[in-house]
Amino acid sequence: MIFGLFGGGKSDQPDDEEEMELVAFQGALNGKAADLKANARLVEAGLVPAKEMVSEALSRRAEMIRLETKGDRAAATLFIDGVAYAGQRYPRQQATAIVQMIKLLAGLDHKLKGRHQEGGLKAEFTELPYEIRVEVTPVAEGQERLVLKFRNLKEKMSTPEELGIPPETKQKLRDVCGGKHGLVLVVGPPFSGVTTTYYGLLRGIDVYLHAAFTIAAPSDRDVYNISRFEVNEGDSFEQTCRRMIRSEADIISVDPLRDGETAKTLLELAENVCFICEMPAKDSGAAIEQLVKWTSDPQLVSTSLDAIFSPKLIRKLCTECREAFRPNPKLLTKMGLPDDLKVMYRKGEPPTDPKTGEVGEPCARCDGVGYLGRTVMLEVLEITPDIRELIAKGAPPDQIKAKARAEGQTTFQKEGLRLVAEGITSLEELQRVFKAG
Ligand SMILES: [Zn+2]
Repeated sequence: MIFGLFGGGKSDQPDDEEEMELVAFQGALNGKAADLKANARLVEAGLVPAKEMVSEALSRRAEMIRLETKGDRAAATLFIDGVAYAGQRYPRQQATAIVQMIKLLAGLDHKLKGRHQEGGLKAEFTELPYEIRVEVTPVAEGQERLVLKFRNLKEKMSTPEELGIPPETKQKLRDVCGGKHGLVLVVGPPFSGVTTTYYGLLRGIDVYLHAAFTIAAPSDRDVYNISRFEVNEGDSFEQTCRRMIRSEADIISVDPLRDGETAKTLLELAENVCFICEMPAKDSGAAIEQLVKWTSDPQLVSTSLDAIFSPKLIRKLCTECREAFRPNPKLLTKMGLPDDLKVMYRKGEPPTDPKTGEVGEPCARCDGVGYLGRTVMLEVLEITPDIRELIAKGAPPDQIKAKARAEGQTTFQKEGLRLVAEGITSLEELQRVFKAG
């Protein structure tokens, strides 16, 4: 028996280490070839540690890694589904070699320090293609901060269904866009999933019913159901919009709304076509306030704005290890959950031996995180006649939101509780997302 224990333990461990597959870097996005020969010393010091750092991040499903040096040590922080986890620590010299190596591979000036540089590289890990965005920023004491953002090019999070957008919300979008008038916004702060949601919603537009055009800057996200409209050289934004309206456009997708002049044009022309675009703002209330401020015309905003969709990303429980429990009826009432809910779920913990207290292996599917991937909670603020009236009067956002709640519109809270009731996420995760804003 003793032999069996030791034998198993010994042969397992070295195997595990050998199996750690390393990422293959496949060239800079800017096309600059890295001269590895001329930088042989750097390659020797930095290439393997850089590969190991990236491989660890990708194997843990991180979307981002940040490497920061303080004093003699550097620490990596991994971001997995929007939550920070501590990564490896490195001696300062090794961290410097990693940063320089990544710069070289990403086609940046690896000898230049003290200036912000951005680039990217292609990579392959466990037979999946990735794009890695690289940012190097000078920080205190002559050090640099390295941020890598990873995108799995095979990962599908593009249709309304894949985003977890319920059929009623998809129908709501089709209704507001089908009217051939009004401004429809998709609003959120950075990292709220706003761009992903925007493209997901666009893909939900029914092309058989509506003629949809875009003049937004080309992006790497394809939207097959929307035709690109040729912009004549020298034409203003307004002239191009008018040409599209004359070409019988029903729906026009434009670049994210960031200035008052464009806002005014869209609101004024929205009588004859439905405009849809992203707008960076804290939430729907802040977006309305901004539109009124930009145009100084609450009347125009109230008549032309039709709907605001705002997403928040929330982590999904790992279905392999989530733990079912019977909810206390008092909790259900307090949280506003259906009182006939029989089962709820929380994050799973590795099994513990009741006798020895020994903690077992973490779940292999989620690496013991308890969550796997994210879904979108989508709030929909439809500008109903009563809400139009409030906007025209210059009512504060709180009042507009209270009205929407009273009308039974889809709020973050409602969507979040639906996800909890369906066992897709946990109450703890919902509370975390709300606390984070
Ligand atoms: Zn799990």
